[in-house]
Amino acid sequence: MRVTLLEKTDLTARFIVEGINPPLANTLRRIILSEVPTMAIDDIVIYENSSVLHDEILALRLGLIPLKTDLDTYNLPEKCSCRSELGCPLCRVVLTLNVEAKGGVRTVYSGDLVSENPNIVPVSEKIPIVKLASGQKIMLEAYARLGRGKDHAKWQPVSACTYRYKPIIKIDYARCDGCGRCAEICPRRVLAKEGNKIVIVREMECTLCMDCVRACEVKPPPIQISWDNTTFIFYVESTGSLPVERIILEALKIYEEKFTEFMRLLEGLGV
Ligand code: SF4
Ligand code: SF4
Ligand SMILES: [Zn+2]
Repeated sequence: MRVTLLEKTDLTARFIVEGINPPLANTLRRIILSEVPTMAIDDIVIYENSSVLHDEILALRLGLIPLKTDLDTYNLPEKCSCRSELGCPLCRVVLTLNVEAKGGVRTVYSGDLVSENPNIVPVSEKIPIVKLASGQKIMLEAYARLGRGKDHAKWQPVSACTYRYKPIIKIDYARCDGCGRCAEICPRRVLAKEGNKIVIVREMECTLCMDCVRACEVKPPPIQISWDNTTFIFYVESTGSLPVERIILEALKIYEEKFTEFMRLLEGLGV
């Protein structure tokens, strides 16, 4: 397996993985989506809620706010020695919300949540939770803990995780008349006309839609689109809970642990 980074920002990464097959690519995608833990609000004690939202809807909205996560300090609740329903300082973070609309309508934002740990806070302060009319009030205590996307989507570390085959584009210049129809129709501007010649300028952007092949009037078309089914272009977009590179590294670590466990079980069967 060989990994090449194409581009990276704080929240996104695009990289090529060579030397794997479709089941392995999908395994990596599914581990990223459902196995890498993040922090999310899971239990709420509501002392007062006179807003228009029912307690359950308020709890749902709070649960879906992505929180910055620290995987090195906190334990997953099932792995914490406290065995307590509401957790301990090693497996949960308490956030409080105490807001009242005084003298007019007031929007409650994620930034109004006050965390006992300044490192575990909403990834954005601007997520609206509810609007309060004058005199309405919310007072609650929220317990955030680590969890996995396979149990609830609120624990998913990514807002997008996709992969596609690496495209291969070939042009038979002996038969191509350079008319340029394929370049005009390409929605991703993969092809360009340079003089009387068609050139491939952004091969990695090809989505394998085949519009260029259909547009070509030469039969059989001198442009051929195929793909390499051992090479995949991944795109991962973090919700902001964890840096994108940490999500990928954690996913690979989990994959290795699962594989080792599988081998151990097979050996136990005497296979
Ligand atoms: S449409 Fe066909 S003939 Fe025209 S430039 Fe493209 S490949 Fe060549
Ligand atoms: S298959 Fe689609 S995206 Fe790829 S080069 Fe042809 S028209 Fe462009
Ligand atoms: Zn604990």
